[in-house]
Amino acid sequence: MPWVPSLTANSLLRDRRIVWLLVVFAVTTLCLGSIVATVIYTDAHSSISTESHVSHTQDVLLDLSAIAQQLDRIELNTQLYRETEEEDYLRSAQSASVVLNTLVQRLTGLVADSRVETGRAHDLEAATATLTKDLDRPTPSGRSIRSDVVSCRRVQNLMQDEERTLLVTNDTVADRATLFNMARRAGVIVVGAILNLVLFGFLIRDAVRRGRFEERITEANARLRSTVERMGEQAFESRLLIDARDEVALCLDVKQAEEATVRYFAQLLPGTAGSLCIIRHSRNVLESAGSWGVVRGNAAFEGFAPECCCALRSGRARWRRPEQSEVHCTHFAGTPPERYLCLPVIAHGETLGVVTIECRTVEAAALAAARENAIASLGEMAAMAIAGLNLREKLERQSIRDGMTGLFNRSFMEIALERELHRSARQRRELALMMVDIDHFKQFNDTFGHEAGDVVLREVAENLRLGVRGEDIACRFGGEEFVVILPEISTAAALDRAELLRQRVSELALRFHGQPLRQVTISIGVAIYPLNAETSEDLLRWADRAMYTAKHRGRNRVVQADSSILV
Ligand code: GH3
Ligand code: MG
Ligand code: MG
Repeated sequence: MPWVPSLTANSLLRDRRIVWLLVVFAVTTLCLGSIVATVIYTDAHSSISTESHVSHTQDVLLDLSAIAQQLDRIELNTQLYRETEEEDYLRSAQSASVVLNTLVQRLTGLVADSRVETGRAHDLEAATATLTKDLDRPTPSGRSIRSDVVSCRRVQNLMQDEERTLLVTNDTVADRATLFNMARRAGVIVVGAILNLVLFGFLIRDAVRRGRFEERITEANARLRSTVERMGEQAFESRLLIDARDEVALCLDVKQAEEATVRYFAQLLPGTAGSLCIIRHSRNVLESAGSWGVVRGNAAFEGFAPECCCALRSGRARWRRPEQSEVHCTHFAGTPPERYLCLPVIAHGETLGVVTIECRTVEAAALAAARENAIASLGEMAAMAIAGLNLREKLERQSIRDGMTGLFNRSFMEIALERELHRSARQRRELALMMVDIDHFKQFNDTFGHEAGDVVLREVAENLRLGVRGEDIACRFGGEEFVVILPEISTAAALDRAELLRQRVSELALRFHGQPLRQVTISIGVAIYPLNAETSEDLLRWADRAMYTAKHRGRNRVVQADSSILV
């Protein structure tokens, strides 16, 4: 049987593990998301700062180039003024110097974040201030202006070279940063993908294991359910068999035991029909002792020979089913059923009968097949009970009956006579006692042999038994003498009954081995309680005397006991 609690514990552990995996998965996803966001943010931030650096450098370079243009203009206008002496050129040069100053001041502002550049810007400021001052003289000196322009250009060129170098450096840094950022993003994506794959791997593995585990639980549950059903079935069968055993043990005679057997077969096999047939040895036929359900025209009601049943022929239980056997038993009156089970009832090696179970449906046959062990046990139990009760009845019969004639024996007669006399005394009723003796019985033995004598004894006994009332007690007193006790009877009726018996016997025409026997006659002495005697011994004595009187008077007659017979 599967150990279900351990499965449940495993299931709990697995559930917890999956929850943990999901938590780890969620946390990892959050961390990866944060890392990706941070990377993207820092990348954007660094590229913005790189771009601002580049644009700042470009602004400075633009400014420096504008400054170079203004210096060119100043130099050109100053040269034209010196050659033409036209004031316009001088004014143009002066206005250019104003623009130059503005540009230099703006440049100073642009490079304020760099100490070195600021120093150069101040140098340029000083040089442009000197240039402006020389231009603003009433007669500007061409040499000094050229010298000023050269000073300005030197600083401007220096700054321009430095800015260009810076621009190149910034570009290289920006390129490297871009490459680095790309590599970092790729790394984060790859790591994230690997982590996700690993986690999904765990989840898939757990899902597969969980599936297998659930399959095992389903199988275990199915096994458990079938075990419980089997145990329930076994409990039902055991209970029924115990009840059957208890009830059969209470039975006082075979008939009761047979009825109880049939009742329990009906309970054990709902949806079936069947019968219990018992062998009547006197006729060597099986007769129905009881049935359940609607049996299909079973010939058992009329009786059938043991050879008609395949199970009785083989001596063991036999199924007749379309897929198993095609041979039918012949104890069915009409068409035999498609599915039936015949179970011989055997005790101590002696076959007592057969139980036939008819299954109308496949389901009923399946039920009978599933309960075959219980059927066999019930059959054995019934067989033992019937055999036991048969034996008891036989022993009882032997103890109170005469083996040859079947009439009650002398000891039983003595007890019964005492009992009946007491009852007659209590009820103040008469009782008659007949003493019957076969006339010249010895001659039967001598003429035809003892066997013929036995036949005569049995026939006379049978006629005595059939010729009296049910409540009368016919007994074999000994040899060829019989006693009949007739309670609650008048003297006249007792004499009439005795005369009837005498006549009945005298009319017998017996044959022995085909040979006719001579006429059988009986002599009967009748004594009446309380008329002749009040005790059993006296009453027997009186009846005996009356019977001997009948013998003396010529036999084949009835004599009533009275004082006239006292010889
Ligand atoms: P009576 O008319 O005077 O009664 O003559 P009887 O021959 O009947 O009487 P008797 O007492 O002389 O003979 C009885 C015989 O019955 C003697 C005995 O051998 C025989 N007998 C007693 N018991 C049995 C028995 O069980 N079977 C047979 N065959 N004979 C028996
Ligand atoms: Mg006799
Ligand atoms: Mg006799």
